[in-house]
Amino acid sequence: MGNCVRIYSDKKRSPASEEKSLLSGEIRKGDVAGDEYSGDQFTFSGSKRPTTEVKIKISKKQLEELLSMKEMHGLTLEQVLTRLMNGGDGVARSDQRSWRPKLQKPMLSGFIGYLFADLGSGVYHWGIDNYGNASTPVFGSQIDAFQGHHKWPWTITKRQFANNLHSLARVITYTVLPIDLIFHDQPVVMGFVGMASGCIMFSQQFHAWAHGTKSKLPLVVVTLQDVGVLVSRSQHAAHHRPPYNNNYCIVSGVWNKFLDEHKVFEALEMVVFFKLGLRPRSWDEPGVDWTEVSEDSPTTYFS
Ligand SMILES: [Zn+2]
Ligand SMILES: [Zn+2]
Repeated sequence: MGNCVRIYSDKKRSPASEEKSLLSGEIRKGDVAGDEYSGDQFTFSGSKRPTTEVKIKISKKQLEELLSMKEMHGLTLEQVLTRLMNGGDGVARSDQRSWRPKLQKPMLSGFIGYLFADLGSGVYHWGIDNYGNASTPVFGSQIDAFQGHHKWPWTITKRQFANNLHSLARVITYTVLPIDLIFHDQPVVMGFVGMASGCIMFSQQFHAWAHGTKSKLPLVVVTLQDVGVLVSRSQHAAHHRPPYNNNYCIVSGVWNKFLDEHKVFEALEMVVFFKLGLRPRSWDEPGVDWTEVSEDSPTTYFS
């Protein structure tokens, strides 16, 4: 009884397909007395008896590259294949799979960051739409701006890019910089933080595009809105209609349906009211503060 490795190639295929064809090998228990080679079929016995069956697939091109490597010089084909099957120096495996552990988790954490940013934008927007005023510490200017936005929503499309983003960019800079310094060598953390903070910082631009006219927006923006990557114009338009208490999320809007259908913000408003005694503005009948002033009105407003 012994162990064997067999390598097969398919000579019936065309040269082009042969280049892409896979050579396959396997280790299994068998009755092989020694090494054999006949044409394209090669069989040899190994010195160790494996406890499990191993199959290896490698293209002809990859096998040639493997054999030409410096560390494989001086080794017999049997030794090369044995190293390959045992993991060896991991050359072939790392070449084929090295991107997975490096990128899969950061990409996943980045996607979670993207979802988190939309949820965060909704919670923050709900908070400043419903509580506080211009004199509220720290958030006063944001509260004033968002309440003004309900009265003059079209002004957001008139402001320059930097004018829309500078306040969020300042907050993101001060928040993300120390995180970068501490976690710069942890791709999963940086994937989440980078995507979440980037989406939060650009949320005002996504918001501005949601107020844009389709014919005047770049095609790529309209496409991203239509497929749901960015908050859509129709979804955000619902936020600017009575009763002014839904569709708060302004990154992708992916959370809006869930939050509104499950009355999550209404539940939060009840908690805030019973714990802190604060009534949200959305409980009052919409007054002039919520009502949009037309762009053509003589009382137009720019900030
Ligand atoms: Zn709002
Ligand atoms: Zn808006």
